[in-house]
Amino acid sequence: MKTVAIIGAGAAGLMAAEMLSQTNLHVIVYDAMPSAGRKFLMAGKGGMNISHAEDFSTFVTRYGTRQKHLEPYLNAFTPTDLRAWLADLGIETFIGSSRRIFPKEMKAAPLLRAWLHRLRSRGVQFSMRHRWLGWKNNDTKKLIFDTPNGEQVVNVDAVILALGGGSWSRLGSTGDWVSILREQGVIVETLQPSNCGFNTAWSDYFKQRFAGQPLKNVQLQFGNFQQKGELMITEHGIEGGLIYAASSLIRNAIFETGKTTIHLDLFPDKTEDELMARLNKPRGKTSTAQFWRRQLKLDGVKAGLVREILRNDTLNSSELVVQTLKKLPLTLLAPRPIDEAISSAGGVNFDELNTDLMCKKLTGVFCAGEMLDWEAPTGGYLLTACLATGRAVGLGMATWLAESYN
Ligand SMILES: Cc1cc2nc3c(=O)[nH]c(=O)nc-3n(C[C@H](O)[C@H](O)[C@H](O)COP(=O)(O)OP(=O)(O)OC[C@H]3O[C@@H](n4cnc5c(N)ncnc54)[C@H](O)[C@@H]3O)c2cc1C
Repeated sequence: MKTVAIIGAGAAGLMAAEMLSQTNLHVIVYDAMPSAGRKFLMAGKGGMNISHAEDFSTFVTRYGTRQKHLEPYLNAFTPTDLRAWLADLGIETFIGSSRRIFPKEMKAAPLLRAWLHRLRSRGVQFSMRHRWLGWKNNDTKKLIFDTPNGEQVVNVDAVILALGGGSWSRLGSTGDWVSILREQGVIVETLQPSNCGFNTAWSDYFKQRFAGQPLKNVQLQFGNFQQKGELMITEHGIEGGLIYAASSLIRNAIFETGKTTIHLDLFPDKTEDELMARLNKPRGKTSTAQFWRRQLKLDGVKAGLVREILRNDTLNSSELVVQTLKKLPLTLLAPRPIDEAISSAGGVNFDELNTDLMCKKLTGVFCAGEMLDWEAPTGGYLLTACLATGRAVGLGMATWLAESYN
């Protein structure tokens, strides 16, 4: 019986194990952490958004320039297939108002429990606390692990690497694999933060007063990107779903020019004329703060932002205030560190892989999941692509082994 290793017990690795568990191979899943699926569980914490039910032709565009690379795998495992797979596992799903797909229970834990139970019952073996360090003597069939019992060399017939990206390293995905693959001549694009927050230079006053507060119902404009949503003010700058959605564009712009400016519409449901009409009402002796609050319900963090941008002696100019409310410029200086990001961009370059996602330079070594060079916004696109590529390497490896040893 041939033995195959899957290193990384995240969404991609477990899906690869699922495919291989239906063959006559001996499948062992290794992971550095004490238990499987730590990031998967974290993704389920605030409500697990596992996929998206928008039209498939739109769905695949969310992968941007990597659409062409991922489309074959997503075509073979669409969001509809994903829902059917979950149903088979006993996990009911529903489509939310934004067309996002969630397990009915919203949580990842019941899903992971059912999944691991099925994998074990099909003979998949799990070896946790095994940190992969590389190959012995550059032989891809000899895996070196750091284990609680010291360093061990394991002989396998083929290996799937599903080692994740570089964010939230405390959940296991440290990105240590980058240097191991580069040493073997595999081109790996530098891991960068994706779906991340950004630094900006708040005044001390603004930071102390508003860090930790949400900025609700704003529209973000950056180049052709325009979307309504919510942001969070942080000590360092901003984060939250709305900025994550534009984060790859903003990150790339900062990379090119050192910094960049986004614009926020603080009143996306009101026109400039409507705002102007209210601010042009007689003000009497009321203070600016009272007047803004009474006329526009403008106070708190939104009022604070206007004061961050305009000089005190210009706060009585209705034109300037309205301009700022509708197009507030915010200069972003740097993405937040990768460890804080929801996901990472960069990874194994697709030109290094064949259509089964096997490394062209490393026979019998397959790669899947977030460690490949793609990124996508939040909304279930990340997990769907991890599962779809995990499925592809599992099937690809089974076919490759059957063909190679016949
Ligand atoms: C807070 C948060 C919320 C998220 N929410 C969502 C969401 O709602 N929807 C969505 O689609 N996506 C979400 N994501 C992203 C999603 O969870 C990831 O994209 C996905 O889990 C990546 O799966 P993966 O299998 O490629 O890698 P991972 O899940 O990162 O698994 C990689 C595994 O490899 C192991 N490993 C790494 N190096 C080694 C080594 N040298 N030796 C042995 N083992 C090693 C790690 O311990 C880890 O278990 C979220 C992420 C975060 C951080």
